[in-house]
Amino acid sequence: MKRALILLLILLTTACARSPQGVPLEPVDPFARTIYHNGSVLTMEAGRSVVEAIAVRGEKIEAAGTDAEILALADESTTLIDLAGRTLMPGFVDAHTHLLNDARSRNMSLDQAQAQALRNGITTLGTLYVDERFLGEIRDFADAGFLRVRTGLYLVATDPCGNTLGNWWREHPPTNTPGEMLRINGVKIFTDGGSCGRVALSFELEPGWGLGDLWFTQEELNALVAEVDAAGYQAAVHAIGDRAVHQALNAIEAALDGRPNDLRHRMEHVSVIAPDDLPRFGELGVIPVLIGEYPGCTPYGPPIPEEFGSWEWPWRGLRETNPGLSLAWHSDVPFQSLNPFDHLLGFVTRIDLAGRAVCPPFTWLEENTLSVEQALAIMTIGSASALNRETEVGSLAPGKYADFIVLANDPLAAEPARLAENQVLLTVAGGRVEYCSNGHPDLCPGFANRAPALLPDLRPPLFVRWLVLALLVFVPPAAMLARRRHPQPIRLLGGLTGLVGGLAWVFNLNQQAWLDDSAFFILILLPAFFFSLAAAGLAAVSPPGRLSGFGLWLSVLGAGAMSVAGVLSDWFRIDAGWFLLMIGILSHTIGLLLFGIANLRTRALPRWNGLPLLIGLFGGLVPIVAGILLGENADWPLMMLFGVLGGGWGLLAWQLLSRSKG
Ligand SMILES: [Zn+2]
Repeated sequence: MKRALILLLILLTTACARSPQGVPLEPVDPFARTIYHNGSVLTMEAGRSVVEAIAVRGEKIEAAGTDAEILALADESTTLIDLAGRTLMPGFVDAHTHLLNDARSRNMSLDQAQAQALRNGITTLGTLYVDERFLGEIRDFADAGFLRVRTGLYLVATDPCGNTLGNWWREHPPTNTPGEMLRINGVKIFTDGGSCGRVALSFELEPGWGLGDLWFTQEELNALVAEVDAAGYQAAVHAIGDRAVHQALNAIEAALDGRPNDLRHRMEHVSVIAPDDLPRFGELGVIPVLIGEYPGCTPYGPPIPEEFGSWEWPWRGLRETNPGLSLAWHSDVPFQSLNPFDHLLGFVTRIDLAGRAVCPPFTWLEENTLSVEQALAIMTIGSASALNRETEVGSLAPGKYADFIVLANDPLAAEPARLAENQVLLTVAGGRVEYCSNGHPDLCPGFANRAPALLPDLRPPLFVRWLVLALLVFVPPAAMLARRRHPQPIRLLGGLTGLVGGLAWVFNLNQQAWLDDSAFFILILLPAFFFSLAAAGLAAVSPPGRLSGFGLWLSVLGAGAMSVAGVLSDWFRIDAGWFLLMIGILSHTIGLLLFGIANLRTRALPRWNGLPLLIGLFGGLVPIVAGILLGENADWPLMMLFGVLGGGWGLLAWQLLSRSKG
């Protein structure tokens, strides 16, 4: 009863609706003028790319030019900021990130996530995995006036494994109001592996690997892109391998049918491109969205065979083959660094950094690097085009929004290998100071960084957490020890908890559909606690043979460790939870196997004597082995097998209950 109450309590606290947290955008006086002068101002405008000063009026840029030109605009109410020679440039535009849509799974509020973007100088971004739940969340956040980073949304038409998610996106039409903080840009389509399965290449990365996964036939993809196009959305097509890139270009070409690409259908990642496909980006006007930071230190897989080296990350080839085309940048956080300077370093040198490690690139990669000017243009105005915001942001021109940053060092003067050492000192978005590095009050007089709103802490009070942890640790061994003197109640307890645990486990297998990720631990691991008690109940049935006794103790402690892991990571936020979880599953499984073997000999259970062995084998051991061999791509079969564990425990518990009656 007590445990049922705890479960109910947890369900209630985690299922509670969360209202957005943040601070509304403060109004900007449309006549207030600030002049930033005596600097090196990179405008990203053709023709006059480096000037000395800019004037900001209200939310927008009033003028950019020489100190003399701009200071002439000043009157007695103007705020003057002396840049003291420092570099000022447009805020970075990250055309494809998961910083916001992934915030909750990293235990961050949307406000904390956007504060991270602003600290890193990112003032506009595209959110590339928007499902219905996140759409509601970000809309609430923006409606409350809390959104401080210009955000473009891409609604998912398929999941990363290419399964279509229906056309739910049709109910949320694209928007295009100048200056809106939140925009629905388009629809995201996955065409090959990378996030799920393998990328689709024309060659094998290693003998026996095959050519990777294409999720659609050409006809299917043509139909999907044509549907998105006809409905007036921009298509953002994930294509990593050259076969996927080729297929996606074909599909966009077919959908356009000779029309210009006014909706700006774009392509994500494009890591490997066959030489013949390079000019097609320009011909079709498809904006390729590129990563800067090459994963040299933490490669995704085996390197490309050298004869295809020039196909990998051919950014210079893309730039030179398509001179009129915008190229865009994406950090793809959390898969790559959030820090734009890591990406700038990658674009220019292909060097990757990981802590103190410096990972130099293959020679073929060096042949496809870009200049600092080219890279910065990609990371600002080019990415703004990919988000259909180039008339609003991305360069410093009169009439555009005052979204800009001040840097510690001038990237145009930096030694290439040290480009990542740069720092953002000031971030201004829409004329508001959003971030100012400590120690530079001269850049932001009177401004204090605000502390972003945290996720509401829904954990119970500390003494309750300790109490629950103590119960989880002591109750199962106590039941195990009490079984000799009170076999009947222990059997009953074991049967009931086993049933509840088994059913809850099976039910939880699709928990993501009805609860958010943060409830994962507690909802998977509370059943583990029930398994632990159920194993103690089994001990009250079985003869205390040495092997079966040892197996049951192991099972009790293993499942107990799983549930302790859940409480530690969910309520105490201690990372060792994962480690404990793995040990717990393994020892619970081995314990079940041992008991199963003993039970086949002694036939302690009235029916289905082989059941403990089978659930240990198929519910425990097979998922662990498959998990190690197949990695995350094995989700579905693993879930089925874990279902065996839950369902099997339900059956075992049923036996216990009938045994305790008879
Ligand atoms: Zn992504």
